[in-house]
Amino acid sequence: MLAIGCHLSTSKGYLNMGREALSIGATTFQFFTRNPRGGKAKKVNPDDAAALRTLMKDHHFARLLAHAPYTLNPCSADPDIRSFAVQVLAEDVETLDGILPGTPYNIHPGSHVGQGMEAGIDHIVAMLDTVVRPGRPTRILLETMSGKGSEVGSRFEELAAIIGRVRHPEGLGVCLDTCHVYSAGYDIVSDLDGVLEQFDSIIGLDRLHAIHLNDSLTPFASHKDRHARIGEGSIGFEAFVRIINHPRLRSLPFYLETPNELPGYAREISMLRAVWQN
Ligand code: FE
Ligand code: FE
Ligand code: ZN
Repeated sequence: MLAIGCHLSTSKGYLNMGREALSIGATTFQFFTRNPRGGKAKKVNPDDAAALRTLMKDHHFARLLAHAPYTLNPCSADPDIRSFAVQVLAEDVETLDGILPGTPYNIHPGSHVGQGMEAGIDHIVAMLDTVVRPGRPTRILLETMSGKGSEVGSRFEELAAIIGRVRHPEGLGVCLDTCHVYSAGYDIVSDLDGVLEQFDSIIGLDRLHAIHLNDSLTPFASHKDRHARIGEGSIGFEAFVRIINHPRLRSLPFYLETPNELPGYAREISMLRAVWQN
């Protein structure tokens, strides 16, 4: 079955996210581990998380995906901002290990803000080495970025460099965001096979653990990060049909981060289920 869901708000609790997912035909979802702009994490009620685990089992959910606050910048030039990123990462991974073991934790590699790509990558590697260790239930995923400003991670080579330099690369993986890679200049519309071949030879498709499904408001290679609804952007519906059915991708979990409320997500999920080939 197609494992698909969308980003849901954590504010009403874990079990409620599971119920919302069910109500829109989703079998997985993504959630922020805390306020998306950073800040303190609310303590998770273990009974609430256990109730969600039961719901997931009863309804054959795929694994979920946790997303770090998007304002974290692990490669900032400011050591205080970097140590805040380290602290958030440590707390969130610890929490996930306990309440939802096996749920990957997705992060944006960050922006090097003038220090240069190499210095940025070194900071990210240093941060990852504080939490990634063998046998940890929580895998950390690096998201492919659009390359706006001084973002790290818009080239497959940059993600491969991070993975190649950490002490325990087996604890890492990648989440591919369709809007971001298209904006970064990987043509998943007219050459999906070619892009996946590049991904495979530079990073390895075995490291790909999740897909963010977003259309893009801006043109190919624009290096912008503006999500559009599925079929309403420069990527277009036909490309998504090929993406979700691609033999190398079809069994991965897909997460919509499109500009929608629940009814819009329900519509996109049913549109995509209708074109997924059994
Ligand atoms: Fe993201
Ligand atoms: Fe994304
Ligand atoms: Zn984005």
